[in-house]
Amino acid sequence: MDLNLTPQELAFRDAVRAWLSVNIPKDWVKTLAAIHDQREHFEFLRAWQRKVYEGGWAGISWPSEFGGRGATLMEQVLFTEEMARAGAPHLPGILGLALVGPTLIAYGTDAQKRRYLPKILSGEEIWCQGFSEPNAGSDLAALRTEARLDGDHFVVNGQKVWTSYGWASDWCQLVVRTDPDVPKHKGLTVLLVDMRSPGVKVRPLRQMTGETEFNELFFENVAVPAENVVGSVNNGWNVALGTLMHERATLGAGVQITYKRNFDRLLELARGIERNGRPATEDPIIRQKLAQCYAEIEIMRLNQMRAYSRINQTGVPGPEGSIQKIFWSELNQRFQQIAQEVLGPYGQLTKGAPGAFDDGQWSYNYLRARGNTIEAGTSEIQRLILGHFVLGLPKSY
Ligand SMILES: Cc1cc2nc3c(=O)[nH]c(=O)nc-3n(C[C@H](O)[C@H](O)[C@H](O)COP(=O)(O)OP(=O)(O)OC[C@H]3O[C@@H](n4cnc5c(N)ncnc54)[C@H](O)[C@@H]3O)c2cc1C
Repeated sequence: MDLNLTPQELAFRDAVRAWLSVNIPKDWVKTLAAIHDQREHFEFLRAWQRKVYEGGWAGISWPSEFGGRGATLMEQVLFTEEMARAGAPHLPGILGLALVGPTLIAYGTDAQKRRYLPKILSGEEIWCQGFSEPNAGSDLAALRTEARLDGDHFVVNGQKVWTSYGWASDWCQLVVRTDPDVPKHKGLTVLLVDMRSPGVKVRPLRQMTGETEFNELFFENVAVPAENVVGSVNNGWNVALGTLMHERATLGAGVQITYKRNFDRLLELARGIERNGRPATEDPIIRQKLAQCYAEIEIMRLNQMRAYSRINQTGVPGPEGSIQKIFWSELNQRFQQIAQEVLGPYGQLTKGAPGAFDDGQWSYNYLRARGNTIEAGTSEIQRLILGHFVLGLPKSY
């Protein structure tokens, strides 16, 4: 694996840097902090995604005939890294960009690609991932939401849960059971569902961070055109697995730079905080912990390069994505714990509280990190995948 950038990649990186330096909205952190309405907040970010798209930077590695840039995966990585390095706002259509788009590129028909991909890139249509159900999370294939073919459309009935951004979504990549009489993995189908269809109900769930990122989705006799099947009927398990592999392989790219930025900020704060009458950075235990974190963030960066190197060689993400998923999720929990130790009780103050560091960002980060080892497949499931598919150990179920 060669980690040096080619002259073409360096030129690309410089072009991204130059574009970001003049286009990131000025003072966007303050502007967003002052917006309290969740939808208005989302619309601000959606306008940013549109600007990125119009600047020609959305879908770097997606085919150009569907609105992408047709560039290499490495250039996609560079773009993500530069966005994080420049402190740019995140793109709100992340589930469409990271999961649904790559799934449609791999399994969709040309008509589906033409219809959906450009609007995913521009942020005009926001997507959610309707996989988990009350009795089907880790064991996704146990899902019970059913779809029955009736002439030229399916009729969908059932419930999904933990659907991130369900409240903001125009479309849902929904996994349903189309054949209850075959082994559970063989009777699933992936459907593209318009969230404004009659019979779709979205109920937000409040999290301990105070946000309502998650939702429950209810489907009651929802009609979905048969042409909205992705891949083929009863081949949904393979399509859904493709989506999950992308989720594991790509989510780490953006977070590693965010972690580095958070780490640098914590170091800066630690220099100014007193612990036993001297700067926290002079406390031998805190110093050890910060140094360990620094090393782990670097390991994470190198692992991410390895995951991308594998995709470059084979064209598809491999089970190694599970290494990265375990690593970034558990690292963030360790890091947020250390941040609380460094910041002391003030680290627990929330947004708007006088004296809160960085307007309560640290207490938010600590609480949100708990979900990292559950979302995109729990740590136990990632270890199960590595044990079985990489080490060849017997399955536990
Ligand atoms: C922040 C966040 C965002 C999410 N966003 C979405 C989304 O947008 N769309 C969506 O569909 N879902 C989403 N989810 C749901 C997520 O995918 C599930 O929570 C996850 O797959 C676990 O399923 P579960 O909650 O049903 O737990 P369960 O599967 O019931 O697991 C409970 C516990 O048992 C362990 N366990 C289960 N099976 C095994 C096994 N075979 N071996 C060892 N241990 C096992 C698990 O690791 C876990 O600790 C999100 C979750 C979070 C936290």
